[in-house]
Amino acid sequence: MSDHIKLSVSKTKCFKQCKKQYHYAYVLKFPKKERNYHVTGSFCHKVLEEFHQAYIDGCVLPYNVTMTQAWKTAWAEFGAKMTPDMKRECWDLINGYLRKVSREKLGNILAVEQKFEFNITETVSIRGGIDKVTLDDDNVLRVSDYKTTKKGKKYLQDDMFQLMTYGYVLLQEHPEIDKIRGSYILLRHDFEEITREFSREQLLGIKQQFLDYAQSINEETEFPANPTVLCGWCDHVDICEEGRAKVASNPATSKSIFGEVGY
Ligand code: SF4
Repeated sequence: MSDHIKLSVSKTKCFKQCKKQYHYAYVLKFPKKERNYHVTGSFCHKVLEEFHQAYIDGCVLPYNVTMTQAWKTAWAEFGAKMTPDMKRECWDLINGYLRKVSREKLGNILAVEQKFEFNITETVSIRGGIDKVTLDDDNVLRVSDYKTTKKGKKYLQDDMFQLMTYGYVLLQEHPEIDKIRGSYILLRHDFEEITREFSREQLLGIKQQFLDYAQSINEETEFPANPTVLCGWCDHVDICEEGRAKVASNPATSKSIFGEVGY
């Protein structure tokens, strides 16, 4: 194990969920499978990124014109991988967003797909990307992450780690602010938002959580399996004895759903 460890939200979540999966993905670096819901998720992210970036850049065109252009740009990148069903579903989602911003305001968007990577100690760094950063009317910064899951909201309501990480990142850039808002935006639930406010103290605590993960990862030698219902969506289930047994015990879990857990 190298002395320096690079962490991300997805990497730490993977370690927490199943250490064997972490070993396959991040130690052995076995390739991931590309599933339809990855493509549709990436496509919708790209459309929304292009759309919002246009208005950050000063676009004055009507929303529908800009969205059409954003769709074309995303299609040029992902169209070859999209089936008619995937295209139809994405069209409905994006059309829903267009209706939403037409009846509500777009908001003061400061950045989209904001990448970050920095050291939190000499031996631990974190990296990732924030889907959208906005400044709310009351001058509170908001970080948002799009979710394309079809599942209910419960698991997101109970898991603020990702939004708090993004809030922690913004705090590094704006050390003067004392709170940040975070929202999961549920694309398949009519762009409903799950929003929380985090104090400066709460966000600073995220650093220790990453340090704890780094220590646990560095100390791990066995990488035991943790077979759960999620094995049905694991990229490495084909080579994992425990995962295959879990899936076989419940055939329903082997059926892929259109809409991943946390994309
Ligand atoms: S199939 Fe299940 S138990 Fe095996 S590595 Fe994947 S998540 Fe872990």
